[in-house]
Amino acid sequence: MQNKKSEKLFNEAKAHIPGGVNSPVRAYKSVGGIPPFIASAKGSRIRDVDGNDYIDFVCSWGPMILGHSPKDVLNAVTKRLGRGTSYGAPTGEEVLLAKEIKKAFPAMELVRLVSSGTEATMSAIRVARGYTGKKKIVKFEGCYHGHSDYLLVKAGSGALTLNLPDSAGVPEEFVRYTLVLPYNDLPAVEALLKSDNDIAAVIVEPVAGNMGVVLPGNGFLEGLRRITKEAGVLLIFDEVITGFRLSKGGAQSVFKIKPDLICLGKILGGGFPIGAFGGKKEIMSILAPDGPVYQAGTLSGNPIAVTAGLATLKALKSPLYKRLDRLARRFTDEIVSLARAAGIPMTVNRAGSMFTFFFTNGPVRNFAEAKRSDAQMYARFFHGLLERGVMFPPSQFEACFISSAHTENDLDKVIQVCKKILKK
Ligand SMILES: *Cc1c(COP(=O)(O)O)cnc(C)c1O
Repeated sequence: MQNKKSEKLFNEAKAHIPGGVNSPVRAYKSVGGIPPFIASAKGSRIRDVDGNDYIDFVCSWGPMILGHSPKDVLNAVTKRLGRGTSYGAPTGEEVLLAKEIKKAFPAMELVRLVSSGTEATMSAIRVARGYTGKKKIVKFEGCYHGHSDYLLVKAGSGALTLNLPDSAGVPEEFVRYTLVLPYNDLPAVEALLKSDNDIAAVIVEPVAGNMGVVLPGNGFLEGLRRITKEAGVLLIFDEVITGFRLSKGGAQSVFKIKPDLICLGKILGGGFPIGAFGGKKEIMSILAPDGPVYQAGTLSGNPIAVTAGLATLKALKSPLYKRLDRLARRFTDEIVSLARAAGIPMTVNRAGSMFTFFFTNGPVRNFAEAKRSDAQMYARFFHGLLERGVMFPPSQFEACFISSAHTENDLDKVIQVCKKILKK
């Protein structure tokens, strides 16, 4: 595999951009090597500047559920561009997108758009604190909710990869009100909420994607709903990955749970920067301009991102999810049986079209169990794939995604590649 151009760009990038990248995990620190610099992408394929093609399982870390460069989204955006790109004033499309989001997530009575998932979670927590008048929040080990100060505590993938469970530059006073519990440990939540009456909210990834995929155990989400309700604590579902991914209505529609606040991002922007948070009218009405909780954004509701989002949501219908689930099930089953046959410890966690192959005999139900995987072995697996034209996420603690552009044929090719690598 030729990678001279990527190597040159990476070296040049390091002189101008910290670590050569604009988001840390892109630097391949945990798997080593040179990250391919990307030139273009179409369908299930992504192409680097050296002309190598890869079947893409990163999918921009989740957003590209329709694959790369989907025609309908590109057409809608291209058509919209001629009318200006940002106004700092309301548009009709924002209303349309709010309606579409509410249709998919009926627990959202009011929804506000922002420009990233980080902003969505940060703002939802401010709302929760403003509404309840309480200070503390509960999060789970290995869950990532963006990079705002008080959420960078045991925050999964990016932070985990760099071995920075807490980030430098965050005063310890700033995380004093963030309480961290193990994922899937309902009794711990129950005990904490009983003993502390200054908790505003519990925030959770309903299916975790940032310590690798970890599913909620039987009754975990139902239990969270019950316990928080009894304690007068708001329940926030961070569905930045799972929203429009597990089903159109996210994990809450699959598990039939109604959280108080919901955070969205990734798929919602169809490849453009966007985020959203929303929930009950009574809670969301606390936001400025109607209420005392301030939140704002120069590019919030950007018409191009909103247009891409509208075109993307339009394409998301239930047969698409059924097909993705079927493809992903067969794919993960086959890879695991290849690993077994080769005597390699492997556990797969999968929810619909998101999955992680953990190099451990498992099970993986929380962050501590995820960390038992052999990250070195993952790195070898990863590079074996990359050299043969398959791009997996460059860390054991991330989710793989497939898109509607992935074909049976694509996946069969990858299975054949895995067969070779796992034997080695
Ligand atoms: C990606 C992610 C975020 C942060 O979104 P950004 O757009 O990267 O700021 C928040 N929560 C979850 C669950 C995510 O996966």
